[in-house]
Amino acid sequence: PVLMVGLTGGIGSGKSAVAARLATLGAVVIDADRVAREVVAPGSEGLAEIVAAFSDRVLDADGALDRAALGAIVFADEAARRRLEAITHPRVRARTAELAAAAAPDAIVVNDVPLLVEVGLAPTYHLVVVVQTEVTTRLERLARRGMDRAEAERRIAAQADDARRRAAADVVLTNDAGLPELHAAVDALWRDRLVPYEVNLRERRA
Ligand code: ATP
Repeated sequence: PVLMVGLTGGIGSGKSAVAARLATLGAVVIDADRVAREVVAPGSEGLAEIVAAFSDRVLDADGALDRAALGAIVFADEAARRRLEAITHPRVRARTAELAAAAAPDAIVVNDVPLLVEVGLAPTYHLVVVVQTEVTTRLERLARRGMDRAEAERRIAAQADDARRRAAADVVLTNDAGLPELHAAVDALWRDRLVPYEVNLRERRA
């Protein structure tokens, strides 16, 4: 298999900025949020199964998944949430594996997964990279993005904390300075850790 790197970090930490930089360096980035939307897109088997399980009250007027309606159902109901995840998680995994398999044999694949630690996925990657940023900075960035303060705090509280993410990390990138500093740190990660790891993986395979 190609080198699979898991990338995660709390909301507003700068995970997407790291993924974007890695993409410019040549990584194949797979965005888990995007894959998760794709597997329940209109016309998909995933969406049909969700409707079979939860009825068409989870569809909007256009026949697309109404995330708010579905969220309201599973938020308060643990069994419902597990039923939903039993539909979505295997599909996300299969589609991610398919995308990774389509990459070149020497590719460095980076899977951007917001809840990687919470879902227990760390052991499925060769290397886990965690982006860490002071909460005050994250709150400022989220505010600039238009999220209100209470909502931002609620979302941060609902995720794993930095200590837990750090415990699952092979590499921790801190993002408390500006974007030039972040880019320099990502470039060093690419050059010093990811490229050598990939070369090593390929040599052992050959
Ligand atoms: P989410 O989990 O919500 O998607 P994220 O971790 O992917 O968050 P980003 O979208 O990468 O976070 O970053 C949040 C915002 O902060 C973006 O607007 C991004 O451009 C900005 N940002 C990220 N890092 C820095 C930085 N070092 N300096 C200034 N702005 C930054």
